[in-house]
Amino acid sequence: MNHNQIIVFLGPPGAGKGTQAQRLATEQKLTKISTGDILRDHVQRQTELGQQVAPLLTAGQLVPDKILLAIVREYIREQQAKTSDLRLIFDGFPRTVAQAEALDEILTELGTAVSAVPLLEVSDELLIERIVERGRQAVAAGEKARSDDNAETARRRLTVYQNETAPVIKYYQTKSALCTIDGVGTPDEVYERLLAHLQHPA
Ligand code: ADP
Repeated sequence: MNHNQIIVFLGPPGAGKGTQAQRLATEQKLTKISTGDILRDHVQRQTELGQQVAPLLTAGQLVPDKILLAIVREYIREQQAKTSDLRLIFDGFPRTVAQAEALDEILTELGTAVSAVPLLEVSDELLIERIVERGRQAVAAGEKARSDDNAETARRRLTVYQNETAPVIKYYQTKSALCTIDGVGTPDEVYERLLAHLQHPA
């Protein structure tokens, strides 16, 4: 028997996926893969890929599935080379139904499957507030804010989420791996809800 655990975090931009996924990864010895972080790293290093995707990130639009799938395949290959058990948290992926289907295919080929799909829910108004605040805090701390952390792009990201990613929620609903978690509250409160679900899935 293997000890694979593959968690897919869903939720709109600003819902707190990154924060929760990071804590869960640290505490449960899982490896977090954040496709947004990987893409931003390419942009910062000005790789060929980074130059290609930078305008899409700044505009709040999705990067083509083909690029994301190449990144994720490579990541899973690297993980497999390191350890016999796959213990992964996906943050920001899949964002389209095509990505979700492709992930299932990759995992099926490896004889495994997604274990749990927490969905963090937060109202749109609060999301925009959080994103704008994150941009402000980065500037206040003397850092460079993310090119997409402003009110206008945040709204665009929410629209893209509703059009492209909401169908991914349905996709996992039909597979009954999905669980909705209230994302409003302190990070600790949200984390407790998340753990409660993962320990006692409904
Ligand atoms: P957030 O969840 O706050 O929007 P992310 O860091 O997950 O932030 O993503 C930032 C941007 O990176 C997205 O708006 C999109 O342009 C790109 N991106 C990240 N993951 C994907 C993905 N799975 N498919 C397509 N584009 C992606």
